[in-house]
Amino acid sequence: MLVVMKFGGTSVGSRAALQQVVNIVSKAKHAGQQVVVVVSAMSGVTNLLLDAAHQAEAGSEAAAHQARSVIEQKHAEATLHFLGDTPTRQQVMAQIDALLNEFESLCHGIHVLGELTPRALDVIGGLGERMSAPQVAAILNQAGLAAQPVESTELIVTDDRYGSAVPLIEATARKTEAGLRPLLNQGLVPVVTGFIGATETGITTTLGRGGSDYSATILGRALKADEVWIWTDVNGVMTTDPRVVPEAHPISRLSYAEISELSYFGAKVLHSQAIRPARRVGMPVRILNTFEPDHPGTLITAEESDNGKSVKAVAAIKNMSLITVAGPGMIGIPGVAGRTFSAVARTETNVLMISQASSEQSICFVVPTPDVPRVIKSLEQEMIREIERRDLDPIQSENNVVVLAVVGSGMKGTPGVSARLFGALGGEKINVIAIAQGSSEFNISVVIAQGDADNAMRAIHREFELEKP
Ligand code: ADP
Ligand code: ASP
Ligand code: MG
Repeated sequence: MLVVMKFGGTSVGSRAALQQVVNIVSKAKHAGQQVVVVVSAMSGVTNLLLDAAHQAEAGSEAAAHQARSVIEQKHAEATLHFLGDTPTRQQVMAQIDALLNEFESLCHGIHVLGELTPRALDVIGGLGERMSAPQVAAILNQAGLAAQPVESTELIVTDDRYGSAVPLIEATARKTEAGLRPLLNQGLVPVVTGFIGATETGITTTLGRGGSDYSATILGRALKADEVWIWTDVNGVMTTDPRVVPEAHPISRLSYAEISELSYFGAKVLHSQAIRPARRVGMPVRILNTFEPDHPGTLITAEESDNGKSVKAVAAIKNMSLITVAGPGMIGIPGVAGRTFSAVARTETNVLMISQASSEQSICFVVPTPDVPRVIKSLEQEMIREIERRDLDPIQSENNVVVLAVVGSGMKGTPGVSARLFGALGGEKINVIAIAQGSSEFNISVVIAQGDADNAMRAIHREFELEKP
């Protein structure tokens, strides 16, 4: 059995966590499994790196120096604990120091130029994983588990959408097979940097925040792995974000369709695209707790399991804006929806939800707030004549909204789910700004004010009795 195991930031972020990683990999190897490990940066490191890059652009290098010493300290402590004051440790720390030198000189360049490109941001953002992989490999070796660090720039080929690159499946399959299979055949554990890929010409890219999950399923698909195990800091996918609703509890089975809705709508436990490679080939994915490795966690497969509940989980995606295209002459404008979404598509913005009133007098849709200026500009260019003629009103945007998604395959054909949903929101005096339901009937999405989000999640959790196992 070949398993790709991904360990997230907290799972490689402390001595206790790294000891668990050793135990988990050791158990799998002793059970005769072939294992590929994918690692995130130690927790907090990616944020430090990215913040420092932004501050360098804004005119200060102080954050870069500060980040360097914090990150160095984290790795120094972990390596000293596991490797002692040995030549192996010195070697690992030398690699980490070289990467931190690169980080500081990149930040210096950004500071001097006053410019931070998306391409430079990806190089900087990926440094944390490049420090983590040699560290984890050395720790596994020290524990008698023969391991080898591998840079995913040599395996995962992507397009050049920096910051949210998309893998090129065939090229990735070829390089991954060539890069990892020989190591597996020798009984080694490859320890691959998560989050990072490279374009066909070798330029570093990243797969988006939280992208190590995606790395794991991409590699799993490429290697035709039997399963992908995502090791994190909770007991699987939960009924909602446990930081918002303490009563949230783990869900033992989910289908690809359900998790894809939940992760798309903000359930941070899995990257929004990560399920796609697995779903394509029907590869099971498990979400497991590094700190409670015997808990069964969540198993995700194609099967639609029925846990007796119409609604299984609720998620919310924050920092969104609602854009409205409307006007008295809207009905008379041919192809207005097509033109609207073509104009949005030209900005390469991700549209999370669309809603159109049947009178055809308005179309509204949700996009991430940082994309709003680009989207409005593109729409105004497209509709310039209609706006001048007053057939359309000036394009409006409403910031500080969230999309809340209520998800479960049992909703299909169950009457009354939306009535209960709106009843629960109404009971909390929460105003619903827009609504959409996919024809799959797996998901009802509502747009509400950001300030209402946590309250809404708690109310929905209660209404659908999600706290009851
Ligand atoms: P990792 O570093 O292991 O990738 P993340 O922080 O990215 O971990 O994701 C795990 C976190 O996601 C959990 O600690 C939890 O706070 C949060 N989370 C949000 N929604 C959910 C959910 N529905 N189920 C489980 N965890 C969730
Ligand atoms: N370290 C990256 C991030 O913080 C990727 C990941 O953790 O999956 O976004
Ligand atoms: Mg994550």
